[in-house]
Amino acid sequence: MDYTTIIHKSFKELWPEKELKHELNLTYSGKFSDYNANVNYTSWKLNFKLSKTWRGVDEDIRIGLIQSLLIKVFKTLEYKNYEKNNKVEMYNMFLKNIALVAPRKESEPALIESFSRVNAIHFNGLMDMPNLLWGQRSLTKLGSYEYGSDTVTISTVLKEVPLHILDYIVYHELLHKKHKFYHKNGKSYHHTTIFRNDEKKFENSAVIEKELKTVLRKKKVKKMFWGLFD
Ligand SMILES: [Zn+2]
Repeated sequence: MDYTTIIHKSFKELWPEKELKHELNLTYSGKFSDYNANVNYTSWKLNFKLSKTWRGVDEDIRIGLIQSLLIKVFKTLEYKNYEKNNKVEMYNMFLKNIALVAPRKESEPALIESFSRVNAIHFNGLMDMPNLLWGQRSLTKLGSYEYGSDTVTISTVLKEVPLHILDYIVYHELLHKKHKFYHKNGKSYHHTTIFRNDEKKFENSAVIEKELKTVLRKKKVKKMFWGLFD
């Protein structure tokens, strides 16, 4: 099936009584990390971009992926066929389990050390090490976990904070690996109550949250007044 047929099929399964009139485009990109995907859209055009690793994936799972993206675009359209439709569910299962076979990259030594400390204390040393990379120098996005490539990315701002603060952020991202996400009616929930309760188990978490705010505020002020990104 070519991509326009697949997108129309995906749409019809969710909204059988509606018609998709958008101009459609779908490209496979080598720039994305594994199993990443997104959709850009206007009122007349949908532009899907999928990491090229999606090429070899079972068609039903790819339909589930496209349906997840369509649900983001047409969030105001109610779809009644969700219960009958298990492809979105298949896609979510796929994404949750892909970490097991995700390719390994060369992780950053400082982050491996942080991971080892956190793993020993909080996961009984049982967590499988994800890829651990430094990301951009961001004050707003301190870390992220990507299911598709099993990668924790940490802002380089955290190279300059005390180790227990770094460990706390790494712990947060590892909780994403542990808990994955909860999916209901086309929506994914990442910071669930169980997640938040687990997060609080980190020693002195409330104090660290405050320390973190202070550190970040200082860095923001410096940046604002001196144009220094430090
Ligand atoms: Zn989070």
